[in-house]
Amino acid sequence: MRKEIIAGNWKMNNGPSKGLSFLEKLNFSSKEGQRIIICPPSIALGPMKESLVPGLELASQNVHEEEAGAYTGELSAQMISELGIAISLVGHSERRSYYNETDEIVNKKIKRVLGQSMEAILCVGELLEEREAGREKEVVEGQVKRALEGLSAEDMKRIIIAYEPVWAIGTGRTASADDAQEMNGYIREVVEELYGSQVAGGVSILYGGSVNPSNIKELMSKEDIDGALVGGASLDPESFAKLLEY
Ligand code: PGA
Repeated sequence: MRKEIIAGNWKMNNGPSKGLSFLEKLNFSSKEGQRIIICPPSIALGPMKESLVPGLELASQNVHEEEAGAYTGELSAQMISELGIAISLVGHSERRSYYNETDEIVNKKIKRVLGQSMEAILCVGELLEEREAGREKEVVEGQVKRALEGLSAEDMKRIIIAYEPVWAIGTGRTASADDAQEMNGYIREVVEELYGSQVAGGVSILYGGSVNPSNIKELMSKEDIDGALVGGASLDPESFAKLLEY
């Protein structure tokens, strides 16, 4: 049975003090089998970890692909793990487009995350022009296959996949629940092709892109949508609590 996962990606919003006040104000009770994850900016991870309430988990938004070294301004998976953080996003489309993260780098990052016994939330998704050209499945299949290269079926227990069409991120334009289901179902088929039906049936596949309290219910009603990765609507404790309750 796959757990439902609602993850809030704060991007470069809500630093340590806003992060702590979010935790104080968040009034929630998690549903049975629901995992709730917040991905604040890295600088807020330590303070928020110390004030974390049961039922909430924290994740990093990124890690560097190398183990350590002369990479000014970067953070390694080991450093994140040292804080007691056990999850990281990898390959978010903003990192792919603004910081030139290729599938090869995404693959290396996943291996660093797994190397620390952490879970990786692998983000994939097509650009608007790719969807308009009818290439969304081909693009996402390639991203998934290249990101997972060299990973075993055992490693897949610590992989969560988030389908986030780039044209739906931060635009207010959500994929329809049927389109999102079709892509999530397709991603599960790709995982099945690579690892067999047992692994494919166990992997959690989230949808992300303008998820908000009014559209989450319909998205979550779909068979292959196991959760949501939420940006804008996760920043405010009231709106995040509504998402959890949907
Ligand atoms: P959004 O962001 O919900 O603001 O569209 C989603 C994401 O980037 O993960």
